[in-house]
Amino acid sequence: MRKPLLIGNWKMNGSLQANEALVMRLLPRLRAFRDSLELGVCPPLPYLFQVRDLLGSTGVALGAQNASAFVSGAHTGEVSVAMLQELGCRYVLVGHSERRTLYGETNQDVAAKFRAAMSVGLTPVLCVGESLEEREADQTSNVVAKQIQAVINEVGLSSLTKGVVAYEPVWAIGTGRTATPEQVSIVHQDIRSFVGCDASEASQDISEDLRIIYGGSVKPKNAIDLFSLSDVDGGLIGGASLHSKGFGAIAGAL
Ligand code: PEP
Repeated sequence: MRKPLLIGNWKMNGSLQANEALVMRLLPRLRAFRDSLELGVCPPLPYLFQVRDLLGSTGVALGAQNASAFVSGAHTGEVSVAMLQELGCRYVLVGHSERRTLYGETNQDVAAKFRAAMSVGLTPVLCVGESLEEREADQTSNVVAKQIQAVINEVGLSSLTKGVVAYEPVWAIGTGRTATPEQVSIVHQDIRSFVGCDASEASQDISEDLRIIYGGSVKPKNAIDLFSLSDVDGGLIGGASLHSKGFGAIAGAL
């Protein structure tokens, strides 16, 4: 049984004051879903301590938006997975499309981050998805399969379920343009078939157990259609997670 997961990615937004106001408004709206959903928020790194304390023992978990694949040492400006774990994070996003496109992260870099996160017991949220050009060239399945295969090569198929896959078409992130339920359903099914493709019983189980969430301009008005799809196990929410009412309504759609 795959427990639905809803994660808010605050991106590079917030302030001490704004975070406090958001979390204080959000918690009462999420209370009703604490047993049925796994919930998390990913604030910018400098606010992890603050948000961890605000979340307390409410059951809403803390996540980070990125981490280094390196353990420690001469990596100025980077933050290790052990540091995130020590700070109380449960999740870390790896390979968000903004990291891939704006900061040049390759499939191999992302796979190394997945491995690092797993090694300290964090749950890596592996973001995958195609650009508009790739979709138009009918390359969606290939692109997503390569992104996932890089992680399988790094950690082995059986470790994939230590993380979560977030399908996020690049053209739908922050654009207000959402993939249709049909488009989402096809890719989520493709991912499940790809993971289960070696026909061994183990790979079938892994494919069945793997949580695949969707992200890309999810709003309260489209959340019900997307989250009622059987292969969609939750959402990674950017812009709408900065609004307590919207994020609460999206949780209600899961
Ligand atoms: C994201 O940042 O992962 C995301 C899905 O953003 P948005 O919901 O704003 O499209």
